[in-house]
Amino acid sequence: MSPDRLRRAAEQMRALDVDALLIGPGADLRYLSGYAALPLERMTLLVARADDIHTLIVPELERPRAEAMDLPDDLEVRDFAETQDPVDLVASACAPLGPSPRLGVGDRLWATFLLAIQHALPTRASYLPASTVTRELRMRKGPEEIDALRRAGQAIDRVHARVPGLLRPGRTEAAVGADIADLILAEGHEQVSFVIVGSGPNGASPHHELSDRALEPGDAVVVDIGGTLDGYGSDCTRDYLVGHAPLGYMDIHATLEAAQQAACDIAAPGVTAEAVDAAARDVLDEAGLGGYFIHRTGHGIGLEEHEEPYIVAGNELPLEPTMTFSIEPGVYLPDRFGMRIEDIVVVTHDGIERLNTGERRPVPAG
Ligand code: ZN
Ligand code: ZN
Ligand code: ZN
Repeated sequence: MSPDRLRRAAEQMRALDVDALLIGPGADLRYLSGYAALPLERMTLLVARADDIHTLIVPELERPRAEAMDLPDDLEVRDFAETQDPVDLVASACAPLGPSPRLGVGDRLWATFLLAIQHALPTRASYLPASTVTRELRMRKGPEEIDALRRAGQAIDRVHARVPGLLRPGRTEAAVGADIADLILAEGHEQVSFVIVGSGPNGASPHHELSDRALEPGDAVVVDIGGTLDGYGSDCTRDYLVGHAPLGYMDIHATLEAAQQAACDIAAPGVTAEAVDAAARDVLDEAGLGGYFIHRTGHGIGLEEHEEPYIVAGNELPLEPTMTFSIEPGVYLPDRFGMRIEDIVVVTHDGIERLNTGERRPVPAG
C-alpha cells in the first residue's frame, strides 16, 4: 500500500484542526495502515495524530497478524495482554493533549470502545466523525486503487458474460445465485459481497436478493453482483431475458439505456454529483418513468461497496479526476418487472472511463 497515507491524513487533520483520529477495524484502518483487522470484542485501534505520531493498538494475540501486514514504517505497534485495559494505551498514545482536543472517531467504531475511551480522555474533548478527514483522501483514488477497481470490474464482467448460460426455465433464483457466487470467486475475487437475482416481478424490488422462485419463460431478470478483489469492490448490474420480453419491456429498457448514457456523457471534472443524477433522471422523467426510478443514480466505491461520493440530488460536490462511483439508474414496475443498468466509472481529465464494458442491452438466456 501507498506509504504516505498517514502523512496526508495528518496534513488533513492540521487543515481541519483535528488533533487525532481514533480508528477501529474497517475501511479507514485498512486505507491508512494496510491492516485488514478483524472486528473483535477486543479493541484494535489506530491513533493517528496531527503531529505525525501514529500508534496501532492491538490485542497481544493479534500482534502477529498485524505485523504480517505491510504496515507503514512510521506506525508504532503496541499490544495489550488479555488482562490489561487497552484504554490506558489509548490515553498514552493520545498524550499530551490540550484541555479541549478535537478527536475524529471512526464512523464504525463500536460504541462500547468509544464510551470507554471518552471516560479516559479530557472531559472537554470534542468528537467528530473521522470521515470528515478520511473522506477527503479516500474519495480521490490513487493509481494502485484504480488498478484494483479496474481488475475487479473486469472480473465481474467475466461473470456476467456467463450468466446467460445459467438462466433456464425451472431453475430457481437461489440456484442461479449459488452458481454466480462460485463464478465471482473463480474469476479472482477473494470475497462475494452480494448476489441479486430478481426474476419477473421480483426484479421490481431493487435490493431483492435470492428466493426459491423458479424462472419462467417471459421473465425479465435483474442481476446485480459484486465482490472484492485486493480489498476493492466490484458492482455491476445487467438485465437478462428468459424467452420473450414482457409487454412494453424493450421500449422502457431503451429509455433506461439512454438515461444511463446521458449520465455517463455529462460526468466530468467540475460537474456536480447532483448534475449527473439529474441527467439520468431527466431522460426517465421525460418518458413519464421518473416515478419508477426510486433510488439515487449512484454511489462511490472503493474499499467500501458504498462510500462517497453519492450521486444524488442535493450533493453539490464537484467531481474530480480519480473519483470512482456507480452510474445505475433503474426502472421498477411493481408486480411486473424491474431493470437496472450499472457501471462503475472513474473520472478522467475530461470525462469518465467505464470500468464495466459488457453488453448493456437485455441479453437473452441460453
Ligand atoms: Zn444498491
Ligand atoms: Zn449494484
Ligand atoms: Zn451499486
